[in-house]
Amino acid sequence: MLTVKKFGGSSLASPDRLLRSARLCADEYMAGSGTLAVVSARGDTTDELLALVGTVSLNCPPRERAALLATGEQQSAALMAIQLCALGLPAVSLTGQQAGIVTEAGYEGVSIKSIDTQRLKALLRAGFIPVVCGFQGVNGDGDISTLGRGGSDTSAVALAAALDAGRCDIYTDVDGVYTADPRIVPSAIKHARLDYASMLALAEAGAQVLHPGSVRLAMDKGLPLRVLSALREAPGTELCAEAPPSALTGVAADRETGLITALGSIADEQSCDALTDVLSDSGIVVKRSSCSPGVIKIQTAPEKLSEAVCLVHDRLLNQLSRRAPLRALP
Ligand code: ASP
Ligand code: MG
Repeated sequence: MLTVKKFGGSSLASPDRLLRSARLCADEYMAGSGTLAVVSARGDTTDELLALVGTVSLNCPPRERAALLATGEQQSAALMAIQLCALGLPAVSLTGQQAGIVTEAGYEGVSIKSIDTQRLKALLRAGFIPVVCGFQGVNGDGDISTLGRGGSDTSAVALAAALDAGRCDIYTDVDGVYTADPRIVPSAIKHARLDYASMLALAEAGAQVLHPGSVRLAMDKGLPLRVLSALREAPGTELCAEAPPSALTGVAADRETGLITALGSIADEQSCDALTDVLSDSGIVVKRSSCSPGVIKIQTAPEKLSEAVCLVHDRLLNQLSRRAPLRALP
């Protein structure tokens, strides 16, 4: 059974990390499972390429920006294939186009229309590990197109679905899906399992861990997904169709608008009132708040967003632990 393994930029950002990630592919391959890797650009490469555009022109044609940004993933794919070959494994890098990924018309933020899997299947049959560039494809005019920021998660899930993979592993810079971004909220708790719909609601509310498009696609296809870290060995989070309902699914925020969303059965009118009080007491202006069963939305100014997210998360966690001693989240 095929396993698709997707490596985010942080999992490839240094020679050590590249080696670690390649070893994860090697272990999967040696265990007898067909293995396909999908990679995104290393570290901050995409941001750096975007900044480079700005040094040349403030009016860049989208076609050329897509062509430039796609090179970030091309570096990663070639480097990963080189590393796998150095470990003695048969690997080949492929651009989105070489992997048969065809997108809708346009150059940026486009969606995948179809995948011609012939070449990938032939490579897999011949025992190769294809290393495919995430985030990119080719449009109907034969030009390079990109899927939007964070889009390599969607490349990985789309490839896994098209190739009937048994599982898709997403290696990212956090070791699973937490009740809030653990890089901002130290008290956040990792979910062992989470259902697709809850994950989608979190991703749409601004949780950075997975691109919403990838979750939607996995949900449609019923594809088992795991979110893991390539940097440390930890069980990660499994996404599946049904998981026990969570009292606190999570707190996520949209960086641009400052809209905070809290999800889970704990989210009710009473906790919404308590949250607006906690924020106001800390000098954070609440512009608006609303509550429907299981969902609280609080509009704050984007400037103090991280502090606000911490306060909201910890207040809800506190409320939960007062209801019942908190060992692990259901
Ligand atoms: N490299 C692209 C980005 O930074 C795509 C991705 O990482 O998924 O947005
Ligand atoms: Mg990502």
